[in-house]
Amino acid sequence: MSNFSPQSLHDLDLSTLRGVLAADGVNPHHAAALWRALHREGLPGREALLASSFLPPLHRWIETSVGEGKRWFLDAPEPVEEIPSTDGLTRKFLLRLADGQTVETVLMGYEGRHTVCLSTQAGCAMGCVFCATGQMGFVRHLRPGEIVAQVHHARRVLRSLEPGKRVRNLVLMGMGEPLHNYEAVMQALGIISDTRGIAIGPARIAISTVGVVPGIRRLAEEGCPYRLAVSLHGSSEEERGALVPVSKRWPLAELMAACRDYGRDTGKRIFFEWTLIEGKNDSPETAARLAALLQGMDAHVNLIPLNPTQGYGGAESHPESARRFQKVLREAGFPCTFRQRRGIDVEAGCGMLRRVAGRS
Ligand code: SAH
Ligand code: SF4
Repeated sequence: MSNFSPQSLHDLDLSTLRGVLAADGVNPHHAAALWRALHREGLPGREALLASSFLPPLHRWIETSVGEGKRWFLDAPEPVEEIPSTDGLTRKFLLRLADGQTVETVLMGYEGRHTVCLSTQAGCAMGCVFCATGQMGFVRHLRPGEIVAQVHHARRVLRSLEPGKRVRNLVLMGMGEPLHNYEAVMQALGIISDTRGIAIGPARIAISTVGVVPGIRRLAEEGCPYRLAVSLHGSSEEERGALVPVSKRWPLAELMAACRDYGRDTGKRIFFEWTLIEGKNDSPETAARLAALLQGMDAHVNLIPLNPTQGYGGAESHPESARRFQKVLREAGFPCTFRQRRGIDVEAGCGMLRRVAGRS
Protein backbone atom coordinates (compact mmCIF):
# COMPACT_ATOMS: atom_id res chain seq x y z
CA MET A 1 0.00 0.00 0.00
CA SER A 2 1.38 3.42 -0.81
CA ASN A 3 0.29 6.81 0.44
CA PHE A 4 -0.72 6.83 4.07
CA SER A 5 -0.20 9.38 6.74
CA PRO A 6 0.90 7.88 10.02
CA GLN A 7 -1.60 7.95 12.84
CA SER A 8 -1.19 8.02 16.59
CA LEU A 9 -1.97 4.91 18.63
CA HIS A 10 -2.88 7.28 21.46
CA ASP A 11 -5.83 8.55 19.41
CA LEU A 12 -7.54 5.16 19.61
CA ASP A 13 -10.00 3.79 22.09
CA LEU A 14 -9.71 0.13 22.95
CA SER A 15 -12.32 -1.14 20.53
CA THR A 16 -10.76 0.75 17.63
CA LEU A 17 -7.38 -0.68 18.59
CA ARG A 18 -8.87 -4.17 18.42
CA GLY A 19 -10.08 -3.43 14.90
CA VAL A 20 -6.66 -2.15 13.88
CA LEU A 21 -4.92 -5.32 15.04
CA ALA A 22 -7.56 -7.54 13.45
CA ALA A 23 -7.14 -5.74 10.12
CA ASP A 24 -3.42 -6.54 10.28
CA GLY A 25 -4.12 -10.21 10.97
CA VAL A 26 -3.24 -10.05 14.67
CA ASN A 27 -5.69 -11.63 17.11
CA PRO A 28 -7.63 -8.69 18.61
CA HIS A 29 -7.24 -10.28 22.05
CA HIS A 30 -3.78 -8.72 22.12
CA ALA A 31 -5.28 -5.24 22.10
CA ALA A 32 -5.99 -5.28 25.85
CA ALA A 33 -2.31 -5.84 26.71
CA LEU A 34 -1.17 -3.05 24.42
CA TRP A 35 -3.87 -0.71 25.72
CA ARG A 36 -2.81 -1.42 29.32
CA ALA A 37 0.80 -0.69 28.48
CA LEU A 38 -0.10 2.55 26.74
CA HIS A 39 -2.68 3.88 29.13
CA ARG A 40 -2.53 2.15 32.52
CA GLU A 41 1.25 1.91 32.73
CA GLY A 42 1.76 4.91 30.48
CA LEU A 43 4.90 3.53 28.81
CA PRO A 44 6.62 6.47 27.18
CA GLY A 45 7.66 5.18 23.74
CA ARG A 46 8.45 2.44 21.26
CA GLU A 47 11.56 1.25 23.10
CA ALA A 48 9.62 0.77 26.31
CA LEU A 49 6.90 -1.13 24.45
CA LEU A 50 9.43 -3.41 22.78
CA ALA A 51 11.09 -4.06 26.15
CA SER A 52 7.87 -5.28 27.75
CA SER A 53 6.84 -8.89 27.82
CA PHE A 54 4.23 -9.00 25.08
CA LEU A 55 3.42 -12.25 23.33
CA PRO A 56 5.31 -12.69 20.03
CA PRO A 57 2.51 -11.70 17.60
CA LEU A 58 1.98 -8.36 19.35
CA HIS A 59 5.71 -7.77 19.73
CA ARG A 60 6.17 -8.41 15.99
CA TRP A 61 3.31 -6.08 15.12
CA ILE A 62 4.83 -3.27 17.18
CA GLU A 63 8.21 -3.85 15.56
CA THR A 64 6.84 -3.66 12.03
CA SER A 65 4.02 -1.11 12.42
CA VAL A 66 4.98 1.41 15.11
CA GLY A 67 7.73 3.98 14.85
CA GLU A 68 9.39 6.35 12.45
CA GLY A 69 8.36 5.85 8.83
CA LYS A 70 5.76 3.28 9.85
CA ARG A 71 1.97 3.25 9.90
CA TRP A 72 1.57 4.19 13.58
CA PHE A 73 3.35 6.52 15.97
CA LEU A 74 3.05 7.31 19.67
CA ASP A 75 2.24 10.70 21.16
CA ALA A 76 5.14 11.59 23.40
CA PRO A 77 5.30 15.36 23.73
CA GLU A 78 8.72 16.61 24.58
CA PRO A 79 9.01 18.64 27.80
CA VAL A 80 10.70 21.88 26.80
CA GLU A 81 10.40 23.41 30.20
CA GLU A 82 9.19 22.47 33.65
CA ILE A 83 8.65 25.23 36.13
CA PRO A 84 7.71 24.60 39.75
CA SER A 85 6.01 27.44 41.61
CA THR A 86 7.88 28.74 44.64
CA ASP A 87 5.39 27.11 47.01
CA GLY A 88 6.19 23.79 45.28
CA LEU A 89 2.52 22.89 44.87
CA THR A 90 2.16 23.67 41.18
CA ARG A 91 4.27 22.61 38.23
CA LYS A 92 3.81 23.99 34.78
CA PHE A 93 5.01 22.03 31.77
CA LEU A 94 5.64 23.47 28.36
CA LEU A 95 5.27 20.51 26.00
CA ARG A 96 6.38 20.40 22.38
CA LEU A 97 4.14 18.42 20.04
CA ALA A 98 5.33 16.48 16.99
CA ASP A 99 4.89 19.46 14.64
CA GLY A 100 6.74 21.85 16.94
CA GLN A 101 3.67 23.56 18.43
CA THR A 102 3.80 23.99 22.17
CA VAL A 103 1.05 23.67 24.73
CA GLU A 104 0.99 24.00 28.48
CA THR A 105 -0.18 21.52 31.08
CA VAL A 106 -0.33 22.22 34.80
CA LEU A 107 -0.10 19.77 37.71
CA MET A 108 -1.63 21.15 40.89
CA GLY A 109 -1.33 19.57 44.32
CA TYR A 110 -4.03 20.22 46.87
CA GLU A 111 -4.51 18.54 50.24
CA GLY A 112 -4.15 14.87 49.41
CA ARG A 113 -5.17 15.09 45.78
CA HIS A 114 -3.67 16.12 42.49
CA THR A 115 -5.42 17.86 39.65
CA VAL A 116 -4.16 18.26 36.11
CA CYS A 117 -5.17 21.17 33.94
CA LEU A 118 -5.16 20.24 30.24
CA SER A 119 -4.96 22.20 27.00
CA THR A 120 -7.34 21.27 24.18
CA GLN A 121 -6.02 23.59 21.45
CA ALA A 122 -2.83 25.43 20.59
CA GLY A 123 -4.05 28.99 21.08
CA CYS A 124 -7.75 29.86 21.10
CA ALA A 125 -10.12 31.48 18.63
CA MET A 126 -12.47 33.00 21.22
CA GLY A 127 -10.45 36.12 21.99
CA CYS A 128 -11.50 36.86 25.59
CA VAL A 129 -9.74 40.15 26.25
CA PHE A 130 -8.20 39.25 29.61
CA CYS A 131 -6.90 35.81 28.64
CA ALA A 132 -3.31 35.20 27.54
CA THR A 133 -4.33 32.31 25.28
CA GLY A 134 -7.03 34.43 23.67
CA GLN A 135 -4.50 37.18 23.09
CA MET A 136 -2.27 34.84 21.04
CA GLY A 137 -5.07 33.73 18.70
CA PHE A 138 -5.92 30.31 17.30
CA VAL A 139 -3.19 27.99 16.04
CA ARG A 140 -4.79 24.55 15.73
CA HIS A 141 -6.92 21.89 17.39
CA LEU A 142 -5.23 19.13 19.37
CA ARG A 143 -5.84 15.49 18.45
CA PRO A 144 -7.21 13.13 21.11
CA GLY A 145 -3.76 11.56 21.57
CA GLU A 146 -2.20 14.96 22.19
CA ILE A 147 -4.72 15.62 24.94
CA VAL A 148 -4.30 12.15 26.50
CA ALA A 149 -0.49 12.43 26.35
CA GLN A 150 -0.60 15.51 28.61
CA VAL A 151 -2.15 13.35 31.33
CA HIS A 152 0.52 10.71 30.83
CA HIS A 153 3.23 13.30 31.17
CA ALA A 154 1.77 14.71 34.39
CA ARG A 155 1.30 11.19 35.82
CA ARG A 156 4.92 10.30 35.11
CA VAL A 157 6.18 13.45 36.81
CA LEU A 158 3.93 12.93 39.83
CA ARG A 159 5.03 9.31 40.11
CA SER A 160 8.67 10.37 40.16
CA LEU A 161 8.08 13.11 42.74
CA GLU A 162 5.64 11.34 45.01
CA PRO A 163 5.50 7.61 44.35
CA GLY A 164 2.11 6.17 45.07
CA LYS A 165 0.23 9.43 44.46
CA ARG A 166 -2.34 9.52 41.67
CA VAL A 167 -3.81 12.19 39.48
CA ARG A 168 -7.37 12.29 40.79
CA ASN A 169 -9.00 15.17 38.95
CA LEU A 170 -8.84 16.80 35.55
CA VAL A 171 -9.94 20.22 34.44
CA LEU A 172 -10.06 21.30 30.80
CA MET A 173 -9.05 24.82 31.68
CA GLY A 174 -5.71 25.15 29.95
CA MET A 175 -5.19 26.60 26.49
CA GLY A 176 -8.13 26.47 24.14
CA GLU A 177 -11.91 26.13 24.05
CA PRO A 178 -12.88 22.45 24.53
CA LEU A 179 -16.25 22.71 22.81
CA HIS A 180 -14.64 24.24 19.72
CA ASN A 181 -12.75 20.93 19.40
CA TYR A 182 -15.68 18.77 20.46
CA GLU A 183 -14.98 15.42 18.75
CA ALA A 184 -11.33 15.21 19.76
CA VAL A 185 -12.08 16.26 23.34
CA MET A 186 -14.82 13.66 23.75
CA GLN A 187 -12.64 10.95 22.23
CA ALA A 188 -9.79 11.91 24.61
CA LEU A 189 -12.06 11.95 27.67
CA GLY A 190 -13.45 8.54 26.69
CA ILE A 191 -9.89 7.17 26.71
CA ILE A 192 -8.91 8.96 29.92
CA SER A 193 -11.97 7.81 31.88
CA ASP A 194 -11.84 4.20 30.63
CA THR A 195 -11.44 2.04 33.76
CA ARG A 196 -9.00 -0.25 31.94
CA GLY A 197 -6.58 2.63 31.37
CA ILE A 198 -5.97 5.92 33.17
CA ALA A 199 -9.33 5.54 34.91
CA ILE A 200 -10.12 9.05 36.08
CA GLY A 201 -13.87 8.90 36.68
CA PRO A 202 -16.15 11.21 34.68
CA ALA A 203 -17.34 12.90 37.88
CA ARG A 204 -13.74 14.01 38.47
CA ILE A 205 -13.41 15.62 35.05
CA ALA A 206 -14.57 19.18 34.41
CA ILE A 207 -15.06 20.69 30.97
CA SER A 208 -14.90 24.46 31.01
CA THR A 209 -16.48 26.36 28.14
CA VAL A 210 -16.71 30.02 27.23
CA GLY A 211 -20.32 29.32 26.22
CA VAL A 212 -20.35 27.57 22.85
CA VAL A 213 -24.12 27.08 22.75
CA PRO A 214 -24.30 24.26 20.15
CA GLY A 215 -21.66 22.37 22.14
CA ILE A 216 -23.61 22.69 25.40
CA ARG A 217 -26.77 21.47 23.66
CA ARG A 218 -24.89 18.53 22.21
CA LEU A 219 -23.48 17.61 25.63
CA ALA A 220 -27.03 17.54 26.98
CA GLU A 221 -28.29 15.40 24.09
CA GLU A 222 -25.44 12.94 24.47
CA GLY A 223 -25.92 12.66 28.23
CA CYS A 224 -22.52 14.13 29.11
CA PRO A 225 -21.13 12.32 32.17
CA TYR A 226 -18.58 15.05 32.93
CA ARG A 227 -18.91 18.17 35.04
CA LEU A 228 -19.69 21.34 33.13
CA ALA A 229 -18.31 24.77 33.92
CA VAL A 230 -19.46 27.82 31.97
CA SER A 231 -17.35 30.98 31.93
CA LEU A 232 -19.82 33.84 32.25
CA HIS A 233 -18.00 37.01 33.41
CA GLY A 234 -20.94 39.34 32.65
CA SER A 235 -24.63 39.42 33.56
CA SER A 236 -25.85 41.72 30.78
CA GLU A 237 -25.20 41.44 27.04
CA GLU A 238 -23.20 44.64 27.16
CA GLU A 239 -21.07 43.75 30.15
CA ARG A 240 -20.27 40.28 28.84
CA GLY A 241 -19.77 41.43 25.26
CA ALA A 242 -16.97 43.78 26.33
CA LEU A 243 -14.98 40.88 27.84
CA VAL A 244 -16.02 37.87 25.78
CA PRO A 245 -16.27 38.70 22.05
CA VAL A 246 -17.99 35.41 21.13
CA SER A 247 -21.00 36.44 23.15
CA LYS A 248 -22.02 38.37 20.02
CA ARG A 249 -22.33 35.03 18.27
CA TRP A 250 -23.99 33.25 21.20
CA PRO A 251 -25.74 35.99 23.18
CA LEU A 252 -26.18 35.69 26.94
CA ALA A 253 -29.92 35.02 26.59
CA GLU A 254 -29.27 32.04 24.30
CA LEU A 255 -26.46 30.80 26.51
CA MET A 256 -28.59 30.89 29.65
CA ALA A 257 -31.43 29.09 27.84
CA ALA A 258 -28.99 26.35 26.79
CA CYS A 259 -27.68 26.09 30.38
CA ARG A 260 -31.20 25.84 31.77
CA ASP A 261 -32.06 23.08 29.30
CA TYR A 262 -28.80 21.31 30.10
CA GLY A 263 -29.59 21.39 33.82
CA ARG A 264 -33.14 20.17 33.25
CA ASP A 265 -32.18 17.38 30.82
CA THR A 266 -29.15 16.03 32.69
CA GLY A 267 -30.22 16.82 36.26
CA LYS A 268 -26.71 18.13 36.85
CA ARG A 269 -25.34 21.19 38.52
CA ILE A 270 -23.53 23.76 36.41
CA PHE A 271 -20.48 25.63 37.68
CA PHE A 272 -20.37 29.23 36.51
CA GLU A 273 -16.94 30.82 36.38
CA TRP A 274 -16.56 34.51 36.93
CA THR A 275 -13.28 36.36 36.61
CA LEU A 276 -13.61 39.41 38.84
CA ILE A 277 -12.28 42.60 37.28
CA GLU A 278 -12.31 45.89 39.10
CA GLY A 279 -15.00 48.24 37.85
CA LYS A 280 -15.98 45.93 34.96
CA ASN A 281 -18.05 43.15 36.46
CA ASP A 282 -17.74 43.31 40.23
CA SER A 283 -20.57 45.60 41.40
CA PRO A 284 -23.41 44.47 43.69
CA GLU A 285 -25.85 45.32 40.85
CA THR A 286 -24.01 42.94 38.53
CA ALA A 287 -24.12 40.26 41.23
CA ALA A 288 -27.87 40.77 41.74
CA ARG A 289 -28.45 40.51 37.99
CA LEU A 290 -26.39 37.30 37.94
CA ALA A 291 -28.50 35.87 40.77
CA ALA A 292 -31.62 36.70 38.74
CA LEU A 293 -30.18 34.95 35.66
CA LEU A 294 -29.50 31.82 37.70
CA GLN A 295 -32.88 31.78 39.45
CA GLY A 296 -34.26 28.25 39.75
CA MET A 297 -31.08 26.59 38.48
CA ASP A 298 -28.77 24.19 40.30
CA ALA A 299 -25.78 26.48 39.97
CA HIS A 300 -22.48 27.03 41.76
CA VAL A 301 -20.55 30.24 41.16
CA ASN A 302 -16.78 30.10 41.12
CA LEU A 303 -15.08 33.47 41.51
CA ILE A 304 -11.61 33.85 40.02
CA PRO A 305 -9.50 36.89 40.86
CA LEU A 306 -8.11 38.34 37.61
CA ASN A 307 -4.56 37.26 36.93
CA PRO A 308 -2.43 39.81 35.13
CA THR A 309 -1.62 39.25 31.44
CA GLN A 310 0.52 41.35 29.13
CA GLY A 311 -2.27 42.23 26.73
CA TYR A 312 -4.87 43.50 29.21
CA GLY A 313 -4.73 46.48 31.51
CA GLY A 314 -7.62 45.61 33.87
CA ALA A 315 -7.03 45.04 37.57
CA GLU A 316 -8.29 42.42 39.97
CA SER A 317 -11.20 43.43 42.18
CA HIS A 318 -10.57 44.85 45.64
CA PRO A 319 -11.07 42.13 48.24
CA GLU A 320 -13.92 44.20 49.65
CA SER A 321 -15.86 44.27 46.33
CA ALA A 322 -15.14 40.59 45.81
CA ARG A 323 -16.57 39.70 49.22
CA ARG A 324 -19.63 41.86 48.59
CA PHE A 325 -20.18 40.14 45.24
CA GLN A 326 -19.99 36.76 46.95
CA LYS A 327 -22.40 37.87 49.68
CA VAL A 328 -25.08 38.92 47.19
CA LEU A 329 -24.96 35.52 45.51
CA ARG A 330 -24.97 33.61 48.77
CA GLU A 331 -27.90 35.58 50.09
CA ALA A 332 -29.76 34.70 46.89
CA GLY A 333 -29.16 31.03 47.78
CA PHE A 334 -26.27 30.10 45.48
CA PRO A 335 -23.09 28.40 46.61
CA CYS A 336 -20.32 30.81 45.70
CA THR A 337 -16.63 30.15 46.31
CA PHE A 338 -13.28 31.63 45.40
CA ARG A 339 -11.00 29.59 43.21
CA GLN A 340 -7.81 28.79 45.10
CA ARG A 341 -5.00 30.73 43.54
CA ARG A 342 -2.23 28.62 42.18
CA GLY A 343 1.08 29.10 40.47
CA ILE A 344 0.85 32.82 39.87
CA ASP A 345 4.61 33.25 40.18
CA VAL A 346 5.20 30.90 37.24
CA GLU A 347 2.44 32.32 35.08
CA ALA A 348 0.43 29.15 35.50
CA GLY A 349 -2.66 30.77 36.96
CA CYS A 350 -5.95 30.85 35.03
CA GLY A 351 -5.55 32.56 31.71
CA MET A 352 -1.81 32.88 31.94
CA LEU A 353 -0.91 29.96 29.74
CA ARG A 354 0.80 31.43 26.78
CA ARG A 355 3.40 30.18 24.43
CA VAL A 356 6.33 32.46 24.85
CA ALA A 357 7.78 33.48 21.51
CA GLY A 358 11.29 32.29 20.83
CA ARG A 359 11.14 29.40 23.27
CA SER A 360 9.78 26.74 20.97
N1 SAH B 1 -11.84 28.15 27.12
C1 SAH B 1 -12.41 27.66 28.32
C2 SAH B 1 -11.42 26.97 29.22
C3 SAH B 1 -10.05 27.59 29.36
S1 SAH B 1 -10.00 29.11 30.23
C4 SAH B 1 -13.12 28.77 29.05
O1 SAH B 1 -12.95 29.94 28.72
O2 SAH B 1 -13.89 28.45 29.95
C5 SAH B 1 -10.26 28.61 31.91
C6 SAH B 1 -10.78 29.70 32.84
O3 SAH B 1 -9.78 30.70 33.06
C7 SAH B 1 -11.98 30.44 32.26
O4 SAH B 1 -12.99 30.56 33.21
C8 SAH B 1 -11.38 31.78 31.92
O5 SAH B 1 -12.35 32.77 31.87
C9 SAH B 1 -10.39 31.97 33.01
N2 SAH B 1 -9.40 33.02 32.72
C10 SAH B 1 -8.87 33.31 31.53
N3 SAH B 1 -7.98 34.33 31.66
C11 SAH B 1 -7.95 34.68 32.96
C12 SAH B 1 -7.22 35.66 33.73
N4 SAH B 1 -6.34 36.47 33.14
N5 SAH B 1 -7.45 35.73 35.04
C13 SAH B 1 -8.33 34.89 35.64
N6 SAH B 1 -9.04 33.96 34.99
C14 SAH B 1 -8.86 33.84 33.64
FE1 SF4 C 1 -10.24 30.90 24.93
FE2 SF4 C 1 -11.12 30.35 27.40
FE3 SF4 C 1 -9.11 32.10 27.00
FE4 SF4 C 1 -11.60 32.75 26.31
S1 SF4 C 1 -10.86 32.35 28.38
S2 SF4 C 1 -9.77 33.07 25.07
S3 SF4 C 1 -12.35 30.81 25.58
S4 SF4 C 1 -9.07 29.93 26.56
